[in-house]
Amino acid sequence: MSVDPEIAAIPFYPIPEGESYCEVTPLVNAILEIPEFNIITPATSKTAGYDAPTFSFFIKHHPSGKTLFFDLGIRADWQTGFADDLKGYILAGPPVMLGDVGEILKEGGENPEEVSAVVISHRHWDHTGNISPFPKAEVVGGIDTFDADLGRQTAGRQTLVVDWSKVKSSKVASFGHGYDYFGDGSIWLVDSAGHTAGHLSALIRTTPSPNATYVLLSGDTCHHPVLISPATHHFRLATFPVRGSEENPRQHPALPPPCCMHSDMSRAWDTVCRTRRVEAEDNIMVVLAHDYVYWREWKGAEDRLWPSKKGIQGWKTEGLKLERKYEPEKYDRQ
Ligand SMILES: [Zn+2]
Repeated sequence: MSVDPEIAAIPFYPIPEGESYCEVTPLVNAILEIPEFNIITPATSKTAGYDAPTFSFFIKHHPSGKTLFFDLGIRADWQTGFADDLKGYILAGPPVMLGDVGEILKEGGENPEEVSAVVISHRHWDHTGNISPFPKAEVVGGIDTFDADLGRQTAGRQTLVVDWSKVKSSKVASFGHGYDYFGDGSIWLVDSAGHTAGHLSALIRTTPSPNATYVLLSGDTCHHPVLISPATHHFRLATFPVRGSEENPRQHPALPPPCCMHSDMSRAWDTVCRTRRVEAEDNIMVVLAHDYVYWREWKGAEDRLWPSKKGIQGWKTEGLKLERKYEPEKYDRQ
C-alpha cells in the first residue's frame, strides 16, 4: 500500500523508548446501529446502517500491575440513569445492551474496585458509561469531557482534566500535544480534538523497547474505518440534514451536533489525517471506538473480547492489523 503524499508529509515525532508496556483487551457492553450516510461521504446507501460495538478497553500496566479503562461504553441502566431529555433522544435509536462494564470485568476475574484510572475519550453518552463500580479510579478527560453526564457522575471524585494550556505536554507521533500519563511513555493521552473540543486518544505501548509496538485507541476520531486508511482515497466526513427540526434542532452536550458527527469539522478532519499518519507506521495499530471491522474479527473464533484474556497487545506478531478498505459488504449492515 502506498501512503498518500499529503499524509506522508505530516510530521511524525519520535515516540520515546521504554520497557514498561500495557496489555490491552477490548470489552463490548453495547451495540449501536450507525447509519452509513451519517459517518462517510460518499455513502453507497441512504438507508444502510452498521451494527457497531461500543468498545471499552481494559488496560493492565507492566510492571506496576495497575489497571485502567479507556472509555466505559454505555451505562447499562441508561433508561433510568439518564435525565429524561437525553433518554428521549436515545429512545429514537436505542442500543442493544450486553451488560454492565463492571460486571463483565468481574467475569474475567478482575476486581473493579482495584481499577486505578478511567480515561474517557469525550463527553458523549455512549462513552461515559457508569463510573460507580470503580470507586478508587481517578477519572481522566479533556477540557469539555466533564460538561455532560460525566460531570454529574464525578461529583466528589478525584478527576484529572487534561487541559493542554495547563498540563506538561510533548509532541508525540503525529500529535501536537501528548500527556505522558505514567511518566514512563507507556500511555500517551494525545490531543485529538474535533469530534469534541477535549477529545483524547490514547497511544499505548503494547510491547517493550527495543522494537516497541503500540496501539492508538482513537475514540470517535471518525466512525468509518476507511477514513483512517493512509492510502489516497476520496472518502470524507459527512454532514446530514438537521436532526430534530430547523426551529428545534436536537441539541444536547452528551450528543453530537444536529447536522454532523463532529463539533468542529475542520479540526476533526485534521485529527483524522494525523491518525492516518499514525496508521501508516508498521509498529502502530489504530482502533476506533466503534470499529466494527475489528469487532467482527475479534468476536469470532479468535475471541479477543473480555473476558477472553488474549488481548490485542500481541497484534504485530499475531497479524491482527488489517488494511483499511471500503468493503461495506463485509460489515454487519442492515
Ligand atoms: Zn461514540
